[in-house]
Parts: sequence; structure tokens; C-alpha cells
Amino acid sequence: LDEIIQKPPKQRKFLVLINPIGGTGKGEKTFEKIRPILMNANILIEKVTTERAQHAVDIAENFDLTAYDCIVVVGGDGFAYEVIQGFMKRKDWADAIRFPFGVIPAGSGNGLAKTMAEAAGELCLPENCTYFLAKGKPLELDLATLRTTSFYSISYTVVGNPKESSFIFLSLSWAFLAEVDIESEKYRYLGSQRFTFATIAKIMSSKGWNGKFTYLEAPEDDIVPNYWDLTENHGQAPQVSLLPAFGELPKEGWKTIEGAFSLFWAMNVSHAALDAHVAPMAKLNDGHIYVVIMEGKATKGDYLNVMLALEKGQHIEKPCVKVIKTRAFELETPEGDLLSADGERYAGGLCQVEVHRGMARVMGI
Ligand code: ADP
Ligand code: MG
Repeated sequence: LDEIIQKPPKQRKFLVLINPIGGTGKGEKTFEKIRPILMNANILIEKVTTERAQHAVDIAENFDLTAYDCIVVVGGDGFAYEVIQGFMKRKDWADAIRFPFGVIPAGSGNGLAKTMAEAAGELCLPENCTYFLAKGKPLELDLATLRTTSFYSISYTVVGNPKESSFIFLSLSWAFLAEVDIESEKYRYLGSQRFTFATIAKIMSSKGWNGKFTYLEAPEDDIVPNYWDLTENHGQAPQVSLLPAFGELPKEGWKTIEGAFSLFWAMNVSHAALDAHVAPMAKLNDGHIYVVIMEGKATKGDYLNVMLALEKGQHIEKPCVKVIKTRAFELETPEGDLLSADGERYAGGLCQVEVHRGMARVMGI
């Protein structure tokens, strides 16, 4: 027994990226607090504090995959999103996207960390998420291709080239919630409270949205093959097999909802933020996206009802809410509308999404 206890765990090396401005700006401090846990787990650390937006994209695009065992982001979902985009820009994207990544929550939006913590039955605290890095293993995570006509040029972060795809692991929202997400950025100093604050402001504004949602409905017992079992030939980008060519009519069997929408929230994972249990039925690697919608123009009462039930995931029982299970969809909205993809800002127009089951790997338990 002594021998087992004395044998240290195998040495590993992690590349740790810290966003100094994520959330309330406590990235560095959070990391210093959890660093001893990693050291005790015999993990060598190479730490980089980012100097600008997009810095994490560049690092993920260029670092040597063979030199590390894991890449860790200390920040929020937007920061993790940058690492994923960096992976997907590489020539060796098919290896890079399967490289384990981990999240230590230090942002105002920590939907992925919350999802991982909830799945492990733990609170979403930096210490618990560090435990996933020290003792956990890489878990398969769905990733979706997002194709859009336009990117917002006034965005403080413009990721990628308008003609390229981007890749989302968390959510795509439009209408009410997209605007809350994006407009609340100026309240980042409030931490995760920024969403509550902006939600109330948005409810009071009584705005309405119009669009067309076309989707391939997944049957109840739908079993999606893992992306890596589908193809040996990985090419330059993930293969999209369900979506029509951009701008062409969807294939047969797709359904359409057109008109006024109040809420449109497509979720790949269960949580969009600490207090937003948007899609309780969503699994990390089920190959599905759950689209939570409110059709028509919701009243202030409907919004309040839904938002107050969100933390416990009880909004899906409200009669004004509908949940659609899909593997691929299109959303057409006015050019001037706002979309939020993993918390990043996009413009309206036509956008297409298709899920790739288990494409990425995130540390969890
Ligand atoms: P939050 O959840 O508060 O939005 P994130 O960690 O997701 O926090 O970060 C938000 C954005 O901060 C990221 O999309 C990234 O582009 C940007 N960012 C990262 N490092 C820096 C930096 N050094 N200066 C300015 N912006 C940065
Ligand atoms: Mg999923």
C-alpha cells in the first residue's frame, strides 16, 4: 500500500491560457488559487496571459500539440470559443479538435464549466473544475458547424472570415436572449449578474422579432453516429451532410416555423450560463441540438415566467415554450438582427447549423 501511495501520478504538461479581462477580471487570481491542485497532481504548467482579443485563437492555431497533454482556459465561454476556432483553423484540425481542453470558470458566461460541473454533480467552482483536470478524463463534446452570411463588423471580436464556417459548442441565440447576451457586455463588471440586469431591461423594452426557422426534426429514439466513425477522410473542414448548400432550399422532410418569435435559443449543452438551465435534456455528446423557442410576441408576464423558471430548467413546462430536437437547422432573420453564437456577436441574415457528434474533447468526470 505504501508503494501505491508514494508513487506520484504520471507527469503531464498543461498549457494554461488566462483571460485577464474575463468576468470581473479575476482570471490571474483564480488561477493562483487553484495552481497548487495541479502541482500536487504532478502537472507542469506553462502559463500565458492573453494580451488582446483573438490572442487565444492564434495560440490554439499554432502551438505544438505534441508538447502538452491539455490546454486549459481560465476565463469564460467566449475565451473557450476562441481556442476552438484556433483549433479549427489548423491544417491538422482533425487532431487539434480532439486535443483535450479544460475550463476553469473565470468569466461572466460559464455555460460550459457549469454543464461539466452539473454533469459531475458538483458546484461550478474553480476548485471543482480543476479537479476535473487533475483527476478527470477527456469527454466527447458535440461541436456544430455554423455558416452565416455576415459577421458583425462593429463587433469587438470578429472571429474568422465571413466566407468560412465557425464552430460552436454551446449555443446559438437570437431575438430576446441574443440581445440580452450581447448588450449586457457593458455590465461585465457585475459578473454573472450582468444577464439578470440586461434581461429586465430587455423585458421592459417590449421588442418583437420576425424570422423563419427551418429544421430537420430528430425522432425521439434518434441515435447519431459519432463524427469520427463516419469518415476517414477529414479534408480541410468537417463534412456537413444534412444541410442544403448555402442559399438552397432545404431537403425534403424539413419543417418550417415562420413569423414572430420572442425567444430562440439553440443549445448544444444543458447550461448557457450559471443560472440558465436552458436545455435540461441536452447531453454533451448526443449529436443533437435542442432549440427552445417562444413563438409570437410574448407578453411581459410570459417573459418573466420563463426567465424566473430558467435556473431550475422548469421553463420548458410552460405552455408558451416549445422545445425542438434537431441535428441541423437554418435560421433566416433580418440582416440588422443580432445573433449570439457561444456569446459572440453575429449579424442576422441566413445562418445554418449542423451538429457533429463527439467531435471535440473536454475535460470532465
Ligand atoms: P466573459 O464570460 O466575461 O465574456 P470571456 O473569458 O469569455 O469572459 O472573454 C470575453 C472575451 O475577452 C473573449 O472573447 C476574448 O476575445 C477577450 N479577451 C481575451 N483576452 C483579452 C485581453 N487580454 N484583452 C482584451 N480582450 C481579451
Ligand atoms: Mg449536444
